[in-house]
Amino acid sequence: MSATRNPWDSPAPERAGKPEACALLPDDFEDLGAPGRGEHIFSQIHHPWAWVEGRPRVSRAIREWLDQSLDFCLPQVLEQHASGDGSTKLILGLADGERIEVVHMPRAVRNPRVTLCLSSQVGCAMGCTFCATGSMGIHRNLTAGEIVGQVLVVLRALGPEQPHAITLVFMGMGEPLHNLDHVHRAVRIFNHERGLNISTRRITVSTSGLVPGIERLAHMKPRPWLALSLNATTDEARSRIMPVNRAWNLARLRQAIEAWPLAEREKLTLEYVLMGDRNDSLEDATRLAEWMGDLRKSHNLNLIRMNAHAASDIKEPEEARVTAFVQRLKELGCFVTVRKSRGRDVQAACGQLVKRS
Ligand code: SF4
Repeated sequence: MSATRNPWDSPAPERAGKPEACALLPDDFEDLGAPGRGEHIFSQIHHPWAWVEGRPRVSRAIREWLDQSLDFCLPQVLEQHASGDGSTKLILGLADGERIEVVHMPRAVRNPRVTLCLSSQVGCAMGCTFCATGSMGIHRNLTAGEIVGQVLVVLRALGPEQPHAITLVFMGMGEPLHNLDHVHRAVRIFNHERGLNISTRRITVSTSGLVPGIERLAHMKPRPWLALSLNATTDEARSRIMPVNRAWNLARLRQAIEAWPLAEREKLTLEYVLMGDRNDSLEDATRLAEWMGDLRKSHNLNLIRMNAHAASDIKEPEEARVTAFVQRLKELGCFVTVRKSRGRDVQAACGQLVKRS
Protein backbone atom coordinates (compact mmCIF):
# COMPACT_ATOMS: atom_id res chain seq x y z
CA MET A 1 0.00 0.00 0.00
CA SER A 2 1.50 3.37 -0.95
CA ALA A 3 1.88 6.08 1.67
CA THR A 4 -0.49 9.05 1.40
CA ARG A 5 1.22 11.93 -0.36
CA ASN A 6 0.73 15.51 0.65
CA PRO A 7 -0.70 17.77 -2.06
CA TRP A 8 2.41 19.96 -1.96
CA ASP A 9 4.78 16.99 -2.52
CA SER A 10 3.99 16.97 -6.24
CA PRO A 11 4.62 19.92 -8.55
CA ALA A 12 1.47 21.88 -9.33
CA PRO A 13 0.14 21.62 -12.91
CA GLU A 14 1.76 23.99 -15.41
CA ARG A 15 0.43 25.90 -18.40
CA ALA A 16 2.49 25.12 -21.53
CA GLY A 17 3.00 27.33 -24.57
CA LYS A 18 5.46 29.47 -26.52
CA PRO A 19 8.25 31.34 -24.66
CA GLU A 20 6.69 34.19 -22.72
CA ALA A 21 7.91 37.70 -23.47
CA CYS A 22 7.45 38.79 -19.85
CA ALA A 23 9.52 35.86 -18.55
CA LEU A 24 12.64 36.66 -20.59
CA LEU A 25 15.81 38.44 -19.53
CA PRO A 26 17.71 40.65 -22.01
CA ASP A 27 20.10 37.93 -23.23
CA ASP A 28 17.20 35.57 -23.84
CA PHE A 29 15.76 37.85 -26.53
CA GLU A 30 19.02 37.78 -28.43
CA ASP A 31 19.37 34.01 -27.98
CA LEU A 32 15.92 33.60 -29.51
CA GLY A 33 16.92 35.70 -32.54
CA ALA A 34 15.24 39.05 -31.79
CA PRO A 35 15.79 41.67 -34.52
CA GLY A 36 17.15 44.23 -32.03
CA ARG A 37 19.06 44.65 -28.77
CA GLY A 38 17.74 42.44 -25.99
CA GLU A 39 18.26 45.17 -23.37
CA HIS A 40 16.14 47.61 -25.36
CA ILE A 41 13.25 45.16 -25.83
CA PHE A 42 13.43 44.17 -22.15
CA SER A 43 13.37 47.75 -20.91
CA GLN A 44 10.44 48.66 -23.15
CA ILE A 45 8.40 45.67 -21.94
CA HIS A 46 9.11 46.65 -18.33
CA HIS A 47 8.12 50.26 -18.79
CA PRO A 48 4.34 49.73 -19.03
CA TRP A 49 3.49 53.43 -18.72
CA ALA A 50 4.91 53.97 -22.20
CA TRP A 51 3.19 51.05 -23.93
CA VAL A 52 1.18 51.80 -27.05
CA GLU A 53 -2.13 49.92 -27.39
CA GLY A 54 -1.13 47.50 -24.69
CA ARG A 55 2.19 46.62 -26.32
CA PRO A 56 5.76 47.85 -25.71
CA ARG A 57 6.93 50.85 -27.68
CA VAL A 58 9.32 49.15 -30.14
CA SER A 59 9.94 49.22 -33.89
CA ARG A 60 7.49 47.48 -36.19
CA ALA A 61 10.04 44.72 -36.97
CA ILE A 62 10.46 43.93 -33.29
CA ARG A 63 6.72 44.10 -32.64
CA GLU A 64 6.05 41.61 -35.45
CA TRP A 65 8.77 39.33 -34.14
CA LEU A 66 7.34 39.53 -30.60
CA ASP A 67 3.86 38.68 -31.86
CA GLN A 68 5.02 35.76 -34.00
CA SER A 69 7.69 34.19 -31.84
CA LEU A 70 6.56 34.80 -28.28
CA ASP A 71 3.52 34.66 -26.07
CA PHE A 72 2.89 38.12 -24.69
CA CYS A 73 0.74 36.50 -21.99
CA LEU A 74 -0.53 39.64 -20.28
CA PRO A 75 -3.35 39.03 -17.83
CA GLN A 76 -6.47 41.10 -18.51
CA VAL A 77 -7.90 43.37 -15.82
CA LEU A 78 -11.49 42.07 -15.58
CA GLU A 79 -12.69 43.88 -12.47
CA GLN A 80 -11.50 46.53 -10.04
CA HIS A 81 -13.00 46.79 -6.55
CA ALA A 82 -12.01 49.97 -4.74
CA SER A 83 -11.99 49.82 -0.95
CA GLY A 84 -12.88 52.76 1.26
CA ASP A 85 -9.34 52.62 2.67
CA GLY A 86 -7.70 53.45 -0.69
CA SER A 87 -6.69 49.94 -1.69
CA THR A 88 -8.06 48.20 -4.78
CA LYS A 89 -8.61 44.53 -5.46
CA LEU A 90 -8.12 43.63 -9.12
CA ILE A 91 -9.43 40.43 -10.65
CA LEU A 92 -7.24 39.38 -13.54
CA GLY A 93 -8.16 36.92 -16.28
CA LEU A 94 -5.51 34.56 -17.66
CA ALA A 95 -5.27 33.16 -21.19
CA ASP A 96 -6.82 29.78 -20.24
CA GLY A 97 -9.79 31.37 -18.46
CA GLU A 98 -8.41 31.09 -14.91
CA ARG A 99 -8.65 34.12 -12.63
CA ILE A 100 -6.36 35.50 -9.97
CA GLU A 101 -6.59 38.40 -7.55
CA VAL A 102 -4.03 41.12 -6.87
CA VAL A 103 -4.30 43.90 -4.29
CA HIS A 104 -2.94 47.41 -4.90
CA MET A 105 -2.31 49.25 -1.62
CA PRO A 106 -1.13 52.86 -1.65
CA ARG A 107 0.54 53.79 1.64
CA ALA A 108 -1.10 57.20 2.03
CA VAL A 109 -3.07 59.62 -0.08
CA ARG A 110 -0.19 61.97 -0.90
CA ASN A 111 2.53 59.33 -0.82
CA PRO A 112 3.18 57.59 -4.12
CA ARG A 113 4.52 54.46 -2.44
CA VAL A 114 2.48 51.39 -3.24
CA THR A 115 2.55 47.78 -2.10
CA LEU A 116 1.27 45.14 -4.49
CA CYS A 117 0.09 41.86 -2.97
CA LEU A 118 0.78 39.26 -5.69
CA SER A 119 -0.50 35.80 -6.45
CA SER A 120 1.88 32.95 -7.31
CA GLN A 121 -0.60 30.16 -8.10
CA VAL A 122 -4.21 29.68 -9.12
CA GLY A 123 -5.56 28.29 -5.85
CA CYS A 124 -3.25 26.68 -3.32
CA ALA A 125 -2.31 23.16 -2.23
CA MET A 126 -1.56 24.02 1.38
CA GLY A 127 -5.12 23.95 2.72
CA CYS A 128 -4.74 26.41 5.63
CA THR A 129 -8.16 26.39 7.28
CA PHE A 130 -8.32 30.14 7.90
CA CYS A 131 -7.71 31.05 4.25
CA ALA A 132 -10.28 31.32 1.47
CA THR A 133 -7.67 30.50 -1.22
CA GLY A 134 -6.87 27.26 0.59
CA SER A 135 -10.49 26.16 0.17
CA MET A 136 -10.06 26.19 -3.65
CA GLY A 137 -7.36 23.52 -3.78
CA ILE A 138 -4.58 23.89 -6.34
CA HIS A 139 -5.48 24.57 -9.97
CA ARG A 140 -2.05 25.35 -11.36
CA ASN A 141 1.15 27.33 -11.01
CA LEU A 142 1.34 30.77 -12.47
CA THR A 143 4.09 30.97 -15.06
CA ALA A 144 6.90 33.48 -14.56
CA GLY A 145 5.40 35.53 -17.38
CA GLU A 146 2.01 35.64 -15.66
CA ILE A 147 3.60 36.66 -12.35
CA VAL A 148 5.49 39.48 -14.04
CA GLY A 149 2.50 40.30 -16.23
CA GLN A 150 0.22 40.84 -13.23
CA VAL A 151 2.60 43.53 -11.94
CA LEU A 152 2.91 45.25 -15.30
CA VAL A 153 -0.83 45.46 -15.95
CA VAL A 154 -1.60 46.66 -12.42
CA LEU A 155 1.12 49.33 -12.58
CA ARG A 156 -0.22 50.45 -15.95
CA ALA A 157 -3.77 50.64 -14.55
CA LEU A 158 -3.10 52.23 -11.16
CA GLY A 159 0.58 53.23 -10.91
CA PRO A 160 2.84 54.35 -9.40
CA GLU A 161 5.14 55.34 -12.25
CA GLN A 162 8.25 55.44 -10.06
CA PRO A 163 9.82 51.98 -9.73
CA HIS A 164 11.55 53.01 -6.47
CA ALA A 165 8.09 53.49 -4.91
CA ILE A 166 6.95 49.91 -5.50
CA THR A 167 7.00 47.13 -2.89
CA LEU A 168 6.05 43.60 -3.89
CA VAL A 169 4.80 40.98 -1.47
CA PHE A 170 3.96 37.42 -2.47
CA MET A 171 1.09 37.13 -0.01
CA GLY A 172 -1.83 36.70 -2.40
CA MET A 173 -3.16 33.43 -3.80
CA GLY A 174 -0.82 30.45 -3.59
CA GLU A 175 2.25 29.23 -1.73
CA PRO A 176 5.16 30.88 -3.58
CA LEU A 177 7.67 28.23 -2.51
CA HIS A 178 5.49 25.56 -4.13
CA ASN A 179 6.16 27.45 -7.37
CA LEU A 180 9.69 28.53 -6.61
CA ASP A 181 11.23 28.29 -10.08
CA HIS A 182 8.68 30.63 -11.66
CA VAL A 183 8.60 32.93 -8.63
CA HIS A 184 12.37 33.22 -8.58
CA ARG A 185 12.53 33.87 -12.32
CA ALA A 186 10.01 36.70 -11.76
CA VAL A 187 12.11 38.08 -8.88
CA ARG A 188 15.17 38.20 -11.17
CA ILE A 189 13.14 40.14 -13.70
CA PHE A 190 11.67 42.57 -11.13
CA ASN A 191 15.15 43.17 -9.74
CA HIS A 192 16.87 43.69 -13.11
CA GLU A 193 18.41 47.14 -13.49
CA ARG A 194 17.07 47.57 -17.04
CA GLY A 195 13.54 46.78 -15.90
CA LEU A 196 11.65 47.80 -12.79
CA ASN A 197 14.93 47.65 -10.83
CA ILE A 198 13.15 46.82 -7.56
CA SER A 199 15.56 46.09 -4.74
CA THR A 200 15.32 42.63 -3.18
CA ARG A 201 14.66 44.45 0.11
CA ARG A 202 11.34 45.51 -1.34
CA ILE A 203 10.34 42.04 -2.51
CA THR A 204 9.03 39.67 0.16
CA VAL A 205 8.10 36.04 -0.32
CA SER A 206 5.77 34.72 2.35
CA THR A 207 5.62 31.00 3.09
CA SER A 208 3.39 28.79 5.18
CA GLY A 209 6.49 26.79 6.16
CA LEU A 210 7.46 24.68 3.17
CA VAL A 211 10.89 23.85 4.57
CA PRO A 212 12.54 22.41 1.40
CA GLY A 213 11.56 25.61 -0.41
CA ILE A 214 12.98 27.80 2.39
CA GLU A 215 16.24 25.85 2.23
CA ARG A 216 16.45 26.19 -1.56
CA LEU A 217 15.56 29.88 -1.62
CA ALA A 218 18.19 30.58 1.06
CA HIS A 219 20.91 29.98 -1.52
CA MET A 220 19.34 31.57 -4.59
CA LYS A 221 20.46 34.89 -6.03
CA PRO A 222 19.03 37.47 -6.14
CA ARG A 223 17.23 36.56 -2.94
CA PRO A 224 14.05 38.30 -1.83
CA TRP A 225 13.28 38.77 1.86
CA LEU A 226 11.40 36.04 3.66
CA ALA A 227 8.22 36.13 5.71
CA LEU A 228 6.98 33.11 7.61
CA SER A 229 3.32 32.65 8.41
CA LEU A 230 3.43 30.96 11.83
CA ASN A 231 -0.08 31.28 13.34
CA ALA A 232 0.18 28.78 16.18
CA THR A 233 2.57 27.93 18.99
CA THR A 234 2.08 24.19 19.50
CA ASP A 235 2.39 21.48 16.87
CA GLU A 236 -1.05 20.20 17.72
CA ALA A 237 -2.70 23.58 17.12
CA ARG A 238 -0.60 24.40 14.07
CA SER A 239 -1.24 21.04 12.39
CA ARG A 240 -4.96 21.62 12.85
CA ILE A 241 -4.99 24.92 10.97
CA MET A 242 -1.95 24.43 8.69
CA PRO A 243 -1.58 20.86 7.41
CA VAL A 244 1.99 21.60 6.26
CA ASN A 245 2.99 21.45 9.94
CA ARG A 246 2.44 17.68 9.90
CA ALA A 247 5.35 17.41 7.49
CA TRP A 248 7.62 20.11 8.95
CA ASN A 249 6.83 20.94 12.54
CA LEU A 250 7.69 24.01 14.59
CA ALA A 251 11.12 22.69 15.62
CA ARG A 252 12.08 21.86 12.02
CA LEU A 253 10.84 25.25 10.88
CA ARG A 254 12.92 26.99 13.54
CA GLN A 255 15.96 25.03 12.32
CA ALA A 256 15.36 26.17 8.72
CA ILE A 257 14.99 29.80 9.85
CA GLU A 258 18.12 29.52 11.99
CA ALA A 259 20.09 28.42 8.91
CA TRP A 260 18.83 31.32 6.74
CA PRO A 261 22.00 33.23 5.71
CA LEU A 262 20.98 36.76 6.66
CA ALA A 263 22.48 39.55 4.58
CA GLU A 264 23.51 42.83 6.16
CA ARG A 265 20.47 44.69 7.54
CA GLU A 266 18.15 41.90 6.33
CA LYS A 267 15.20 41.19 8.58
CA LEU A 268 12.93 38.19 8.67
CA THR A 269 9.22 38.72 9.18
CA LEU A 270 7.03 36.44 11.23
CA GLU A 271 3.32 36.71 10.62
CA TYR A 272 0.76 35.58 13.13
CA VAL A 273 -2.94 35.69 12.30
CA LEU A 274 -4.87 36.13 15.54
CA MET A 275 -7.94 33.87 15.50
CA GLY A 276 -10.64 34.20 18.13
CA ASP A 277 -10.18 31.66 20.96
CA ARG A 278 -7.80 29.53 18.83
CA ASN A 279 -4.36 31.05 19.18
CA ASP A 280 -4.85 34.37 21.01
CA SER A 281 -4.29 33.40 24.67
CA LEU A 282 -1.55 34.79 26.89
CA GLU A 283 0.02 31.31 26.93
CA ASP A 284 0.21 31.49 23.13
CA ALA A 285 1.92 34.88 23.36
CA THR A 286 4.50 33.48 25.77
CA ARG A 287 5.17 30.41 23.61
CA LEU A 288 5.44 32.62 20.52
CA ALA A 289 8.13 34.74 22.16
CA GLU A 290 9.93 31.57 23.25
CA TRP A 291 9.81 30.11 19.74
CA MET A 292 11.25 33.33 18.36
CA GLY A 293 14.18 33.25 20.78
CA ASP A 294 16.85 35.69 19.60
CA LEU A 295 14.76 36.64 16.58
CA ARG A 296 12.48 38.69 18.82
CA LYS A 297 15.12 41.39 19.34
CA SER A 298 15.86 42.38 15.78
CA HIS A 299 13.30 40.86 13.42
CA ASN A 300 9.71 41.76 12.66
CA LEU A 301 6.66 40.16 14.18
CA ASN A 302 3.42 41.16 12.48
CA LEU A 303 0.10 40.36 14.09
CA ILE A 304 -2.88 40.29 11.75
CA ARG A 305 -6.46 40.04 12.96
CA MET A 306 -8.32 37.14 11.33
CA ASN A 307 -10.63 38.42 8.61
CA ALA A 308 -13.77 36.31 8.75
CA HIS A 309 -15.08 34.90 5.46
CA ALA A 310 -17.59 32.36 4.24
CA ALA A 311 -15.04 29.57 3.66
CA SER A 312 -14.04 29.29 7.33
CA ASP A 313 -15.81 29.11 10.69
CA ILE A 314 -12.86 30.69 12.49
CA LYS A 315 -13.82 33.86 14.37
CA GLU A 316 -12.15 37.24 14.53
CA PRO A 317 -10.37 37.91 17.85
CA GLU A 318 -11.81 40.15 20.56
CA GLU A 319 -10.04 43.48 20.90
CA ALA A 320 -9.31 42.98 24.60
CA ARG A 321 -7.50 39.72 23.80
CA VAL A 322 -5.51 41.39 21.00
CA THR A 323 -4.42 44.15 23.40
CA ALA A 324 -3.40 41.68 26.09
CA PHE A 325 -1.54 39.51 23.55
CA VAL A 326 0.45 42.48 22.30
CA GLN A 327 1.21 43.63 25.82
CA ARG A 328 2.58 40.20 26.79
CA LEU A 329 4.80 40.08 23.68
CA LYS A 330 6.18 43.54 24.42
CA GLU A 331 6.93 42.57 28.01
CA LEU A 332 8.89 39.62 26.61
CA GLY A 333 10.97 41.89 24.39
CA CYS A 334 9.32 41.31 21.00
CA PHE A 335 9.36 43.97 18.31
CA VAL A 336 5.69 43.63 17.39
CA THR A 337 3.39 45.44 14.97
CA VAL A 338 -0.36 44.95 14.66
CA ARG A 339 -1.05 45.23 10.94
CA LYS A 340 -4.08 47.13 9.83
CA SER A 341 -6.06 44.96 7.41
CA ARG A 342 -6.56 46.65 4.06
CA GLY A 343 -9.49 46.05 1.72
CA ARG A 344 -11.79 44.16 4.10
CA ASP A 345 -14.87 45.78 2.57
CA VAL A 346 -14.04 44.33 -0.88
CA GLN A 347 -12.87 40.92 0.39
CA ALA A 348 -9.27 41.82 -0.38
CA ALA A 349 -7.80 41.46 3.09
CA CYS A 350 -5.38 38.80 4.24
CA GLY A 351 -6.91 35.33 3.85
CA GLN A 352 -9.92 36.50 1.84
CA LEU A 353 -8.65 36.07 -1.73
CA VAL A 354 -10.48 33.37 -3.64
CA LYS A 355 -11.62 32.62 -7.18
CA ARG A 356 -15.14 33.95 -7.67
CA SER A 357 -16.55 33.02 -11.05
S1 SF4 B 1 -2.56 31.01 3.73
FE1 SF4 B 1 -1.24 31.00 1.91
S2 SF4 B 1 -0.34 28.94 1.95
FE2 SF4 B 1 -2.14 28.85 3.30
S3 SF4 B 1 -3.82 28.16 1.95
FE3 SF4 B 1 -3.84 30.43 1.96
S4 SF4 B 1 -2.66 31.00 0.15
FE4 SF4 B 1 -2.16 28.87 0.63
